[in-house]
Amino acid sequence: MCGIFGYIGKETSLALLIEGLSRLEYRGYDSCGLTAIRGGKFFLKKQQGKIYQLKSNVKGCLQESFRACILHTRWATHGRPSRANAHPHLDCNKQIAIVHNGIIENYLVLKERLCKEGHRFLSDTDTEVIVHLIEKFYKGNLEEAVCKAIKHLKGAFALGVISFREPDKLIGVRKGSPLIVGKGVQGNFIASDVPAILSFTRRVMYLRDEEIAVVRRDRIDVLNFKGEAIKHETEEVRVKQQDVEKGGYEHFMLKEIFEQPHILEKMLSLYCRETGIVLPQLNFTENFSKKIKKIYITACGTAYHAGLVGKYFLEKYCYINSEIDVSSEFRYRKMHLTKDDLLIAISQSGETADTLAAVREAKKQGAKILSVCNVLGSSLVKESQGLLYTFAGPEIGVASTKAYTAQILSLYLFALLLGTQKGVLRDRASREAVKELKAIPAYQRDVLEKASQVKRIAKRFSKFGCFLFLGRGINYPSALEGALKLKEISYIPAEGYPGGEMKHGPIALIDEYRGVVCIAPKDNLHEKMVSNMP
Ligand code: GLU
Repeated sequence: MCGIFGYIGKETSLALLIEGLSRLEYRGYDSCGLTAIRGGKFFLKKQQGKIYQLKSNVKGCLQESFRACILHTRWATHGRPSRANAHPHLDCNKQIAIVHNGIIENYLVLKERLCKEGHRFLSDTDTEVIVHLIEKFYKGNLEEAVCKAIKHLKGAFALGVISFREPDKLIGVRKGSPLIVGKGVQGNFIASDVPAILSFTRRVMYLRDEEIAVVRRDRIDVLNFKGEAIKHETEEVRVKQQDVEKGGYEHFMLKEIFEQPHILEKMLSLYCRETGIVLPQLNFTENFSKKIKKIYITACGTAYHAGLVGKYFLEKYCYINSEIDVSSEFRYRKMHLTKDDLLIAISQSGETADTLAAVREAKKQGAKILSVCNVLGSSLVKESQGLLYTFAGPEIGVASTKAYTAQILSLYLFALLLGTQKGVLRDRASREAVKELKAIPAYQRDVLEKASQVKRIAKRFSKFGCFLFLGRGINYPSALEGALKLKEISYIPAEGYPGGEMKHGPIALIDEYRGVVCIAPKDNLHEKMVSNMP
């Protein structure tokens, strides 16, 4: 995921603008760059590497102020990480500049056509075709040219575009990749995510899919892809500045791991009342609950693992068959959903493109959508009938932690509520379960207090070249999640496996170079799990 940040308004120092970009570092990147309008030209700096390097590269200009600027962190998809491939990209005449997040699927065909027409390409990216297309259609009005250009693009894209021919405009485009607009006092912004603009403003406009924002110093106009004006409100962001800072922790992931007991307590106090479980944004009637025939769950990555756990809950407490698939598969399957089916879509950000596509497909077929999400204004929340809001606060760490446990808790509470509504779970059993849930934050704190012990163990095991995570039943998804975390964070190959499957092949892989993590709590499968320990 790359980061886009753009500004238009009264003169603002480059140092502050780069600071805004650095709030998107958490999204991961391999190169970065910026371009600002300076006189009748672009001031352009880009490079492979980190933002602090970019900053030292423009050391002499940090206090210089600009009225229009686009900045970018790139995570290469097409073309290796290099200075030439870093964004922004310019057109042949160096009058238009663009930053892009996403993938242009048909870029090769477009590139060939544009080359034949005489356009000169300087990078191997898919992105560069966009700026040449805009150049081709430019007749003195930037948004018109952008509108024409994007009609030719297939794929996902969030764009930021400026031109010194029209230095009073910053264009933002959103299709498939996230983009927000920030309304400030001195000027306005576009950004991939809220943290980038928080030190400037709290008024935000969450662009919907297939919208274009024409941003000026004192005005924001929103158009659809046909170029027609649309009414769009701004909203106040609730996120606090301290939520997007490390607060004394070494890194965001650690901070977020330690936030978990507090998040769970908050959710339990809000959702578990004297009278029972209350999920205020569920938005469907008890009548519908009783009628639900089947529940489908869809999500990607960590959220998918939370969904796997949710499937166990639904089957156990609601006696409902449920099916789960990763969104990138779900969206292309031949599904046959009906109005008595429910799709639960899980996404921390609410902007996961595959999950959104899966939701749209299920909606077309008449299914009701319940989202499990952590961002209130997100596309997923807007497209769902019901919401299980996770209250985890902004998740900045690239590897999801606190959102995962919050998602699991939401699904658990939902299953308890649905089970009682359907009459298959007694009130008393649900109350007992809630009582047990309320003990979890204390258990989490106990574990977190053992951080130094965990550190010692991690050091001892860091010698292993690969890992196997084993779990059974409800702990099998935890094994998958553990393996995913290890891969993401330490680049050590790891695999999650159901313990009972070991004898069907993977046992052959066990040797002294492989670390094995067994998840074996004292539950009904404990004995079996112990017998699996190789
Ligand atoms: N596909 C573009 C590239 O490789 C954008 C990647 C991104 O979203 O960072 O340059």
